[in-house]
Amino acid sequence: MPTDFSSTRARFDLPEGVIYLDGNSLGPLPKATAARVQATITEEWGKLLIGGWNRAGWEAKPMGVGNRIARLIGAEPDSVVMGDTLSIKIFQLLASALEMNPDRRIILSDSGNFPSDLYMAQGLSAMLGQGYSLRTVAPEDVLDAIDDSVAVTMITEVDYRTGRKHDMAAITARAHEKGALTIWDLAHSAGALPVDLAGAGADFAAGCTYKYLNSGPGGPAFAYVAPRHQDRVRPALCGWLGHDAPFDFDPDYRPAAGVARLRVGTPPVLQLAALEASLDIWETVDMNDLRARSLELTDAFIAGVEVACPDLELATPRAHAMRGSQVSFRHPDGYPIMQALIARGVVGDFRAPDILRFGFTPLYIGLEEVDRAIAILAEVMQTRAWDREEYRVRSRVT
Ligand SMILES: *Cc1c(COP(=O)(O)O)cnc(C)c1O
Repeated sequence: MPTDFSSTRARFDLPEGVIYLDGNSLGPLPKATAARVQATITEEWGKLLIGGWNRAGWEAKPMGVGNRIARLIGAEPDSVVMGDTLSIKIFQLLASALEMNPDRRIILSDSGNFPSDLYMAQGLSAMLGQGYSLRTVAPEDVLDAIDDSVAVTMITEVDYRTGRKHDMAAITARAHEKGALTIWDLAHSAGALPVDLAGAGADFAAGCTYKYLNSGPGGPAFAYVAPRHQDRVRPALCGWLGHDAPFDFDPDYRPAAGVARLRVGTPPVLQLAALEASLDIWETVDMNDLRARSLELTDAFIAGVEVACPDLELATPRAHAMRGSQVSFRHPDGYPIMQALIARGVVGDFRAPDILRFGFTPLYIGLEEVDRAIAILAEVMQTRAWDREEYRVRSRVT
């Protein structure tokens, strides 16, 4: 059955008058979330107390919820585990990958990657010493930069600023041909487009759930390890809940079987409940339908803005195969322009130095919102309504 996007939209609570084009940064609130979290608090925590770990299944949630995410990213059963934040999962996967490729010293990434991923690679390299280092190249040069010095590629599939999408299958194939492992960051892919980790032969992946997956601020990350590697991965962060038998309280660490060894400490039960409420909506979504609708929305936005706002320079690739689910434009006054838009109910965001970023999420955005957003942006640009002191004042979070 084709996905019914009018019924997915009816399952979100969006403020009246807002066109929300920032679900790529923080997904909006599903209507079912508050009651689900409330029930977890009152019925489980409140009544079961510590018994919730067994009787409400809290202990099993990191793997159980991981299996629900797996369908969205083309991962094999029992190969995804929830917990911590994306930055931490990247650190763990990098440490494991480097150890599995011990004769090599280079982590390869691209200059468009999110700073936290790059910082994690820099910090881990400094901690390990022994000549480890991060090499970054331009996004279009990644494929050719994979040589036999590269231990692991650490690539974010969709660039957070430009929305440029890498070819996961091609990069993974080249990496394997050259003896390198691959880590895919799916922050702007999971819930944004179809992902086929198993089909691409990816080694490792991680992503967050508070963007397209709508788990709310601080929602847990996920980590993927290909089944062929799961029992070879030695966790760098040896937490008690990644132990084979946490309640033996053995003073010596022994990793759990499978991807569960990437668990560290106590899982965020309330945030997982919020995520589960959102995943109920995702159960009704076919990722190919989502992709078709997302491309329709981004195509329409690009075409409309280019006609109405000649001063904005498209930063997102036109080719569908190279585009995620966002559209970005460059303008030297991008910050005040975005503030003027937000004041008029069109919520996108700004990424330094000059990017106006708009996320398109078919679950609750349709062509009607795209047309209204274009009209409001055109009005702001044509009247220079953005050119006011109040719009230049920078907030801490942009
Ligand atoms: C959003 C994002 C992050 C954020 O990491 P957290 O640890 O969840 O704060 C990291 N990497 C990429 C590529 C992102 O887009």
